[in-house]
Amino acid sequence: MQKRLKKKLQQRDNFVVVAEVTAGLHFNFAPIERFLKGFARHGYQAIPKEFDFVSISVPQNPGGMANIEPVDVLGRIKLKKLLNGLDFIPHISCKDHNTDALVSMLNGFRSADVESLLVLTGDKPIRAKGVFELEAVGLLRVIKHINSHIYASTKADNLDKVYQYFPGAAVSPFKYTEASQMQQYFKMEKKIASGARFLITQLGYDWKKSQELFRYARENNIDVPIIGYVYMLADNVVLERMHAVDVTGCFVSDRLLAKVKSENLDGHIDRAAQQVAMYKDMGAAGVDIGGVHDFDTFAKILNKAAEIGPDWEKYKDNLYWPLEGGWYLYDDAGKRVALSKPRKKLKHRIFNIFHSMLFDKKHCGFHIFRAVMKFLGTKKGKGFFYRTFFCKEKLFKYLLFNCAECGDCYLPENFSICTIGDCEKGMDNAPCGDSTADGRCGNNLDIMCVGEKIYDCAAAEGNLDVLRRRINPSRNPALEHTASILNYLFEKDHTMAHPFISIGESIHASIPKTGKIMRELADLGPDAYETDSPQLEYIKALIYSQAADGADYIAVNIDAFGETDSTIIVDMMKQYVRFVRKFGDGIPVCIDSSNDDVLIAGLKEWYDTDETVKPPMVNSVKTYTMDNILPLKKHFDFVFIGLLISEDKPSGPGGSYSTDELYGLAKQIFDEAAGKYDFKPHEIFFDSTVFPLAIDMPMQPGVPGYTYRAFETIKKIKSDPKFKGVHCSLGVSNCARDLPGRKIGIMRAYVHTAMKYGCDAGIVNPRHKLYAGEPAPELMELVAAYAKMDGSMESTTNAMNLMSAFCRSAKKT
Ligand code: SF4
Repeated sequence: MQKRLKKKLQQRDNFVVVAEVTAGLHFNFAPIERFLKGFARHGYQAIPKEFDFVSISVPQNPGGMANIEPVDVLGRIKLKKLLNGLDFIPHISCKDHNTDALVSMLNGFRSADVESLLVLTGDKPIRAKGVFELEAVGLLRVIKHINSHIYASTKADNLDKVYQYFPGAAVSPFKYTEASQMQQYFKMEKKIASGARFLITQLGYDWKKSQELFRYARENNIDVPIIGYVYMLADNVVLERMHAVDVTGCFVSDRLLAKVKSENLDGHIDRAAQQVAMYKDMGAAGVDIGGVHDFDTFAKILNKAAEIGPDWEKYKDNLYWPLEGGWYLYDDAGKRVALSKPRKKLKHRIFNIFHSMLFDKKHCGFHIFRAVMKFLGTKKGKGFFYRTFFCKEKLFKYLLFNCAECGDCYLPENFSICTIGDCEKGMDNAPCGDSTADGRCGNNLDIMCVGEKIYDCAAAEGNLDVLRRRINPSRNPALEHTASILNYLFEKDHTMAHPFISIGESIHASIPKTGKIMRELADLGPDAYETDSPQLEYIKALIYSQAADGADYIAVNIDAFGETDSTIIVDMMKQYVRFVRKFGDGIPVCIDSSNDDVLIAGLKEWYDTDETVKPPMVNSVKTYTMDNILPLKKHFDFVFIGLLISEDKPSGPGGSYSTDELYGLAKQIFDEAAGKYDFKPHEIFFDSTVFPLAIDMPMQPGVPGYTYRAFETIKKIKSDPKFKGVHCSLGVSNCARDLPGRKIGIMRAYVHTAMKYGCDAGIVNPRHKLYAGEPAPELMELVAAYAKMDGSMESTTNAMNLMSAFCRSAKKT
């Protein structure tokens, strides 16, 4: 029967064992074959019952040298039928592949039914140029995004069979400076936040450091399974290289070198067995054993470890080979030591001054600088002034920050340190695990690891908590070798604001599939929201996928469940607000309901946390309900959507609300919100209801269409100086309701047309990025016809004719 690491780690009912198998030099498959044939000969009887031999893991080009790709290893193993029920865990690293190639590789593993992966930044290639377009955190985020889309697009009845990648990541507790060690722990937490489902430690020979990792995990409620990596030191060449700091990230002290050299194979096996027993006793979920090339030795290590059992402490001296004077997070009594508080360096101070004067959007210097650059035409990204500026920027930033012209500058996020020029791998989220015991870069011993520098600057600013939580998205490769300052000034880099505010619409109980799964989740009982289930995974995926697709808010609407009892939807809203806070990657919730009790409960729940959260959105406030919601601004920061509907009878043509009436409603809401409750214009959104194009047909001559009135209302609001800074939003999906096809195309054309009238927000599926791309001209013509349907016979006939033609062609396709 096929074993699965994922299942074993989720069950946690046995101590898992993984064997790391590597090909020999020059693409030699024989060592892997030998190991697996040994296993086939002896079978599971050779493994003590305390251990569950689950899987082999296969490194990808270890040491930065070309070798057999894991996918190729898997092919050969399958061809020779060598797996014998074991799982297969490929290492997948970012050193040789760009993002597209990694995604293709992932797809290949999915086709081969591989689910567990060890995600690594990877060693710096020795002869080739390293890619590192992503690093481990970036790749984990890509996998999380793919996983969430697989879930979100699965049929409701198939949720328990859905394929998911099960990515793991590395962590090293074997660093001996405060900066390197704390950065490793921070990075571990970032990897978990980015989707790592298990961790494997770096190799190391210091039980106190191993213990430190488990203590840190407990202290910070980290319950992701940790697998201890046990590397049997036996090969003298490898040993000497590790000692000479020639194998990055590995530390072998002088004493350990001498000790290992004095031992025979039994001595090496003993130490490996003692480490296995140590990890088991410390609470690891399992071990990954490397440096062993034959199954007999592998089985011997496990048998000896079983004999040692919990008595590993007898061998502490044989497992303690630290750096003299090295730094530990806990003292011998297990108490956490105080972290250092270095002084800010001159370069750091200069950066902060320049940044606040010229690049802080709240500072007038920014606006003057931007206006001058715009006047000189540098926004176009070409021309004399652009090139002159870029030339000076290059020189200045190279001299001061070792800038490498990535064009998408993260100096502010990295506390004035460049992670391209100052890092041998150009990591988006530094550091990797390669630093030496004393904090130098393992790939260039002449420099300190960039992670050390960032840590020191963050500590000097008293901002370690920011460093701990901040995850930098991957840089935009299209900006390489362009002027990063101008990219920032003109919002072309990662700080770019979307031209259209996307409010993710997917968590809505009236969507049949989502509503069904929400209902099933609620029916699972009182612990449903805390217990793993396919339904819960689906909801998490729906939330995360919208965040990853660029939603600015994630809307939750539960109203469909409250037809009989509104207390149900109050409780459910609270729960879903918590979900968005937990799984939404920092994107604020949009609490969407026609019931004010639900809005108020959701708003209070959003702020019921010690975490710092962004202001949520409340949808919606009407002229006749605003006195219930707007006063809450005194207690909670939030933005809101003012819905332009009224309880009064419409007095426009044909018994409809005229543009003037809708504008009047906006004025009422604005005066109350800005005048009485101190809302800023940018915190106010107006929504003039979207009517489906398919039924937007005036029943009487002289009556304008709904689309016309919605768009004209937006234009009127946006062209009135009184409303400067407010947003206009639309529930976009409604426009395509009941159309026979091309719905996304219609929505894109609708958004592009609405943007021309001043609309800058919408309740949408963020994945579609409706504000971008070029809408089809015939669909633009169709929407424009509805936008102009002012009641005249000519405009109405034109819109109707275009709609008939559209329906005919859409039905054919
Ligand atoms: S500078 Fe640090 S993060 Fe960059 S490659 Fe060297 S060890 Fe890794």
